[in-house]
Amino acid sequence: MTQLLTVTDISKAFGGNQVLKSVTFSLQKGEILGLLGPNGSGKSTLLNAISGFTRVDSGSVSVGEARIDHLPPHRIIQAGIARTFQLPAMPAKMTVMEVVMAAGTRHHGIWNGLLSLPSGRRAEREDSQKASQLLETLLLSKVRNLPAAALSGGQKKLLGIACALMGEPEILMLDEPMAGVHPQLRQELVATLQMLSQQGISLIIIEHDMHFIKSLCQRCIVLDRGHIVASCHPDDLSKNQDVLDAYLGR
Ligand code: ADP
Ligand code: MG
Repeated sequence: MTQLLTVTDISKAFGGNQVLKSVTFSLQKGEILGLLGPNGSGKSTLLNAISGFTRVDSGSVSVGEARIDHLPPHRIIQAGIARTFQLPAMPAKMTVMEVVMAAGTRHHGIWNGLLSLPSGRRAEREDSQKASQLLETLLLSKVRNLPAAALSGGQKKLLGIACALMGEPEILMLDEPMAGVHPQLRQELVATLQMLSQQGISLIIIEHDMHFIKSLCQRCIVLDRGHIVASCHPDDLSKNQDVLDAYLGR
């Protein structure tokens, strides 16, 4: 398998709090990787570091051969990495459809906008079709004209995924996608993520729901106080003493 994302020896401290300690792992093309660990173990910080929202103190992050750890978040999106947030914030006045459209970038060229160039109008039409399709896939078509801020917590998570997919990423990183999602929507979310994987998108998923992890992931890495203490098949997690110790706080 091709190595798509390579994280090498990254460390990050906030003041005296050493949150990531020499974290090294890689993601293969087409893989669905679970990122586990107790609260406060550094999972979200690791996603922030990869997606450029947090600068690492040392180490490197590469997509293929290209280093991305010095790039700002929008350039990392252009390099093919999208992410969602643990607690998605939505603009107060925009509708669901407008939020997804704003996540598309192709029709934003200033000349296209000012001059209403045909190429800009075509790109906008294509973005609009793509946005409608994503809302359909993520079961948000019925609420497309509602204010995004009015959605339930779970629907906001789904909208966050739709926005992330507008950039047609190679890698999608999800921070606790199931938390707050209505049980009836959960199976749909699993099916959607499986479909994305079949389309060739590689996934990194932070999630506490073990049923969800087992139904999706081929491999998990487990963080404990900033260290990776295990990398194994989800079925082997419960036999791994380091994993048990991490969750029992030993
Ligand atoms: P997890 O997602 O595994 O629950 P986090 O990565 O959110 O853990 O947090 C790990 C540690 O880093 C916690 O001690 C948290 O307080 C700290 N931390 C995270 N982000 C910041 C920040 N921006 N400033 C200071 N401390 C932070
Ligand atoms: Mg977190």
